[in-house]
Amino acid sequence: MIRPSDALEKAATGIRLEALELLALYDAPLPELASVAHTLRLERTAAERVTYLIDRNINYTNICNVGCNFCAFYRTPRQNDAYTLRYEQISEKVAELEAIGGTRILLQGGVNPALPFEWYLEMLQYLKKHHPRIKLDAFSPEEILGLEKITGLSALEIISTMKNAGLDGLPGAGGEILEDEVRLEAAPARIPSADWFRILDVAQSLGLYTISTMVIGFGETMQHRVNHLLKIRDQQDKALKEYNNGFSGFAMWTLQTEHTRLHGKAPGATAHEYLKNLAVSRIALDNIVNIQVSWPTLGFKVGQVGLFYGANDFGSTMMEENVVSAAGGHDRVRVTEKEIIRHITDAGFTAAQRNSRFQVI
Ligand code: SF4
Repeated sequence: MIRPSDALEKAATGIRLEALELLALYDAPLPELASVAHTLRLERTAAERVTYLIDRNINYTNICNVGCNFCAFYRTPRQNDAYTLRYEQISEKVAELEAIGGTRILLQGGVNPALPFEWYLEMLQYLKKHHPRIKLDAFSPEEILGLEKITGLSALEIISTMKNAGLDGLPGAGGEILEDEVRLEAAPARIPSADWFRILDVAQSLGLYTISTMVIGFGETMQHRVNHLLKIRDQQDKALKEYNNGFSGFAMWTLQTEHTRLHGKAPGATAHEYLKNLAVSRIALDNIVNIQVSWPTLGFKVGQVGLFYGANDFGSTMMEENVVSAAGGHDRVRVTEKEIIRHITDAGFTAAQRNSRFQVI
């Protein structure tokens, strides 16, 4: 049995913690955990700076055949409000982003089996042609898995072809808890954790941008959370060693269940639990520099507090968000740059705009 105080003491030295030590951290008092996590964050990142991104989330389709129990966003093709955006409509949204100084779009959909591979390639080419300065970070591992099934092509063939068409990054959405026991309960048809890592590994090997994610509140155990963090840390070790291109950051938020089949069944996570997990993540992920707070699910106030629990990034303007908000995220999913800067400076840091690769611009 490892004592939380011993695990904290070791963590404060910056030495890598193993599974049982990370597990013990969940029993440590929150202020002490926060103190160690914040000290490590100050050592590992620019101490005075908190970064933010001006970007836009665009969901090109809400039609999806995966049907996760925690999702209030997806529709079947027959539902009245099912949609797939035309290239021109997506382009108009990108132009609005350009008008406010944005640098990238996060383009994700459901897994829509009616869209052929060529539709994705032409969309990327269209957007690159009309918006050459905007980074196109698009598709989750789930969407790539869907394309593997439709086309019979491998992830390597699909992603490298997409890269040639203009794809800049493959965000690591859909991570939730990367333990299949938890995933099967929450969404039986959800991408298995091994495929999530396999597909992101391919993206990293091709030099694309990726981030890692985590969602807590499914009723997972602390052991599941530790396993999730360790799997991400292992992948980061591998990607940095083999490709010199790992996850650019880590984003963690709490499960939202309103209007979903998990409502009243999954416990979700409180602010206290979120902050504890944020601090443990900073300590566990000694090879990922940038850790983001999640104001869309926890609100600006908890987001601001998270800057003292290991986080060094305030996320992004997003402009629109349809997936988390459909399940009852924070009442506001749109924020201006000015508001973000105010939250950061009021917390005592210097706000700095970054690109999606976490480089200050
Ligand atoms: S979370 Fe994604 S994959 Fe799951 S049902 Fe919603 S849109 Fe589909």
